[in-house]
This record gives sequence, structure tokens and C-alpha cells, in this order.
Amino acid sequence: MSLDALNKRVETDLSYLSFRKPTEAQPIIPKNGHLYDVIIVGGGQSGLGTAFGLLRERVSNILVIDENRSGLEGPWETYARMITLRTPKNLTSIDLGIPSLTFQAWWEAQFGSEGWEALDKIPRGDWMNYLRWYRSILNLPVANEIKLTLIEPTETGIHRLHIEGNGASCPTLMARKVILATGIQGGGEWHVPPMISEKLPLHLYSHTSQTIDFTGLKNKKLLF
Ligand SMILES: Cc1cc2nc3c(=O)[nH]c(=O)nc-3n(C[C@H](O)[C@H](O)[C@H](O)COP(=O)(O)OP(=O)(O)OC[C@H]3O[C@@H](n4cnc5c(N)ncnc54)[C@H](O)[C@@H]3O)c2cc1C
Repeated sequence: MSLDALNKRVETDLSYLSFRKPTEAQPIIPKNGHLYDVIIVGGGQSGLGTAFGLLRERVSNILVIDENRSGLEGPWETYARMITLRTPKNLTSIDLGIPSLTFQAWWEAQFGSEGWEALDKIPRGDWMNYLRWYRSILNLPVANEIKLTLIEPTETGIHRLHIEGNGASCPTLMARKVILATGIQGGGEWHVPPMISEKLPLHLYSHTSQTIDFTGLKNKKLLF
């Protein structure tokens, strides 16, 4: 089965469930002054899977925002540097029980069942490509380059989300419910302990979240 054939299969499977994809064309521009039923903060795998879950439940007045550029959500092609995922390849995830939406279906559409047998762990770039495909085939309403800075409760129980970034076409968004799918970055700001940041010049250390010039480390010793 080719990727085109798989895409058609997904469409067919979803039609059996009477699932209608949002028709709004990409890119998604947040609507100024609009009251969303749900805003999901974070367009990594949790945010995408949650958006699909809500759409399947016919909750369609939703928006996903992510601070990163499109296709660079989560750690996979930024600060994660391992070759493969640790997770075994056959653990299913955000397919929500639809076989044609699984990583295996996506992989086999390109490399066949022999390719699946030959695969050990999932290379992280391929996992990111799968997430890009998932978002695209489901036409999920994700708006990129929008960072949530504050959730302000209002007297009516509605949440006012303060946002910034290149994709923020307005300073605030309104939502009845807010789902935080902010991953590791949601735990707080990246941080370098003072014993390093106050003692070493910038060129002698890097935080794992930064772009690291590994060529500059050639022939150098790393001390832990
Ligand atoms: C090196 C490394 C290896 C890993 N290996 C595995 C593995 O093998 N298997 C596994 O299951 N997990 C692994 N993980 C964990 C991995 O982070 C999670 O499984 C996965 O990314 C969680 O998805 P998520 O959608 O919850 O969060 P993320 O993928 O982190 O997505 C959250 C998104 O929210 C965005 N965001 C955060 N705050 C805001 C804000 N204020 N405004 C707008 N956007 C915001 C973030 O930028 C990000 O794009 C690994 C993590 C790292 C760092």
C-alpha cells in the first residue's frame, strides 16, 4: 500500500465513523474575539491526539496553539538527540483505535511489511514525520508560533489566554476550557544551575535545549 492509498484508507475509515474533518484551510489563524469551546496549549503528540479525540466527540469549536514553528513541536527535531525512541515500535498511541492511523500503517505504506519487520526502534525523525502526517491527514486546527503567557480567569468562568509570538494575530484568546498539553517545557523555564552559569563563560557550556555546535567539541574532552 502506498502513502496515497493509506491516505484514502484513513478517509474511508473516518467516514465509517461519520467523522468530518474541519474544512478550514491551513494555516489556521486564531479568530479575534471568538469564544472557543476548548483551546489546547501544545501541539505535540498529546495535543494532537487530544484534538482528534475532541473532534471525534463532535467538539469542533477548538484550537490548538504551539509556540514552535509548524512541524517542530515537541522535542523530536530540536533538543532530543538520541537516534531512536526508547518506546517499543508496537505500542500504539494517538491512533485512538483506528488501525489506518497507527505508526505501523504509516510505516508499512512506505516500506512494506518487510520494512516493518526489519525496523527495530523508531528513529526520532520518523516519529516526527509521522506526527506531521497525522496532523495533516486529520486537518487538525493547529496554529503555530503562538506562546501562551498567562491564563486569566474571568467572572463568567471563561478563560482569557494571553498570547505572544509571530502567529499571535491578537493579544488574547477566549476559551470555555483550556487543556495544557505542554510537555516537558510546561514544567517551567529551562534552567542552568548557578554553579555553572555563574562560573563558566557561555562558550564553555550549553543547555541541552539549545542548538549545540558539536563540531566545536571535536577533539575536546567532556568532563561530567
Ligand atoms: C531526549 C528525549 C527522549 C525521549 N524519548 C521518549 C521515548 O522514547 N518515548 C516516549 O514515549 N517519550 C519520550 N520522550 C518524552 C517525550 O517528551 C514525550 O513522550 C512526548 O514528547 C510528550 O508529548 P507531549 O505532546 O505531551 O509534549 P511535547 O511533545 O513536549 O509537546 C508539547 C508542546 O507544547 C509546547 N508548549 C509548551 N509550553 C507552551 C506555551 N506556553 N505556549 C505554547 N506552546 C507551548 C511545546 O513547545 C511543545 O511543542 C523523550 C523526551 C526527550 C527529551
